[in-house]
Amino acid sequence: MAKSKGKKKGGKNKKLSKGNVHVTSVSTNNKQQQGIWSASDECEHYAELGCHIVNIARCRPDRPATSPSSSSYTCSDFRYMYEHAMQIYPWLIGIERFDSSDYHPEDIDKIPDVAMDDEEMILTLTNVTQSITKICYVTVYDVDVCDVDGNVLKSGVSSTTTSVKDSSTTTTTTKERKCTTFIILCPPQTFVHLCSLTPNQTQDDNTTPITSWSQIDIESDIQPWSFHPNIDDAHPYLLHFPFHGLISEEEGSSEVVDAITAYRCTQSCDGQLTHFFHGNYHAIDFACPVGTPLYSPVNGVIIDVNDSITGGKEVSGIAASNMFQWNSIMIRVEDESVDATTDPLYVEFVHIQTDSCVVQVDDKVKKGQLICRSGSVGFSPEPHLHLAAYRSNGDDAATVCVRFDCIGRSEGDATAEPFLPQTGGCYNQSGLVSNYKSSTNI
Ligand SMILES: [Zn+2]
Repeated sequence: MAKSKGKKKGGKNKKLSKGNVHVTSVSTNNKQQQGIWSASDECEHYAELGCHIVNIARCRPDRPATSPSSSSYTCSDFRYMYEHAMQIYPWLIGIERFDSSDYHPEDIDKIPDVAMDDEEMILTLTNVTQSITKICYVTVYDVDVCDVDGNVLKSGVSSTTTSVKDSSTTTTTTKERKCTTFIILCPPQTFVHLCSLTPNQTQDDNTTPITSWSQIDIESDIQPWSFHPNIDDAHPYLLHFPFHGLISEEEGSSEVVDAITAYRCTQSCDGQLTHFFHGNYHAIDFACPVGTPLYSPVNGVIIDVNDSITGGKEVSGIAASNMFQWNSIMIRVEDESVDATTDPLYVEFVHIQTDSCVVQVDDKVKKGQLICRSGSVGFSPEPHLHLAAYRSNGDDAATVCVRFDCIGRSEGDATAEPFLPQTGGCYNQSGLVSNYKSSTNI
C-alpha cells in the first residue's frame, strides 16, 4: 500500500474466519472488558498473520502521527523515537541513524531501499533521505526469518488465483506462497535492521542450502508518507451498519436479515496496519468470512463498481505486491438529510468478492439493500470489509470520519447513540455488543 488506499485498482489488503462472534452480552464501559485493543494488541494480531509492524515515526513524543514535519527532526527526536520503538517492538534487531558523512556522496545514491547483508544475514530497510518519512512494505518469500533472539517470526500467505475461460468452462487455479511482510513507517536518515535469515534452510529442491539473500525473493513497496491533512474532519451523515439487511417491501428481498451476528472491528481510525494515510485514516475494517452479504450503508447512487478479475488474476494475502489490487464499490450519498452541493459524501467498500456485485453504476440504492459480498482481494491479511468515506470521489481524496446509526435499542437507552467502531470491539447494528474474550476463543 504505497499511496493511499484509493478508489482505483492499483494497490492492496487480508483472511481468516474469526471475524464473527455471536452476541452473548451487552458491553460495559471498561475498554478491556469490551475487547477494545491497544495499539500493541493490534500489532500482535497482525503479527500472528505474518505482518510485522514497525511504526517508528509514530513514536515521536511531541507530534501526532499525522503531522510528521519530518524536516524538523532533531537529534533528540531521533533518539526518542529509536528508544521507544525498540521498547515497543522488542523483536527488532536494531535501528540506526544514517550519517551521510560516513559515505562518499556518490555512494549514497547506490544504497538500496532494502539492504541485504550476507555476512550477518540481516535484512535492513534504509531511508537515506534528509526529510522524507516513508511507508515501506517489505515481503520475504518462502523462507523463515527470525527476530533479534533467533525466534522465527510468524509468516502468512499470499495467493494468486488465475482464471482461464474456454468456450464452455472457466478453470480457476489458486497458488499460495508463504511470506513474511514488514510494515515500517520509517523516519528519514534511518536504517532499520528488520530480521535475520533463519539458518540451515534449503531451497525448493531441499538440497541447495540458502547462504545468501540473493537466493530469496524479496519485494517492497516504498512511498513517501501521505499523512491526513485534517484528522478531525467529520461528516454528520449516519451510516447504516453494512452487515444488516433490511427487507424491502416493494422488492420483497429474500435475504436473511442478520441482526444477531456481531463483527469484530480489526482496524479503526488511525489503525496500526494501514489506516494512517490520508486516503484511509478514518476507514473501518470488519473481519468477516468471504461471501458475507454486504448491504448499502447509505441512500445513494452507485458510481463505481470494480469487482472483476483484472488480467485473469486475483491476488490476496500479505504480499507487498498485492497493494492497490483490490475490488471495490463506491456509492455517492443522495439523501434529503445531506446537501450534496455543500456537504457531499462518498462511501466505498474495498476487498469485495469478485463478481459479487448485484448492482450497477447509476443504480439507486437504499440503506440495507444488498449490494455485494465481502471478500479478501488485494493486500488482505484476513478476509474483511474495508469501509471508507470521502468528501469527493477523486483518486486522491482524504477520508472523512462518519459514524454508524444505532438501531434496535429501546428509546431512552443511553447506549442508543451513533457509534464509531474501535479496534477489537465486536459490533452489530446496535453498536458494541460483546466481550470478545468471553464469547470467542481468540
Ligand atoms: Zn482497511
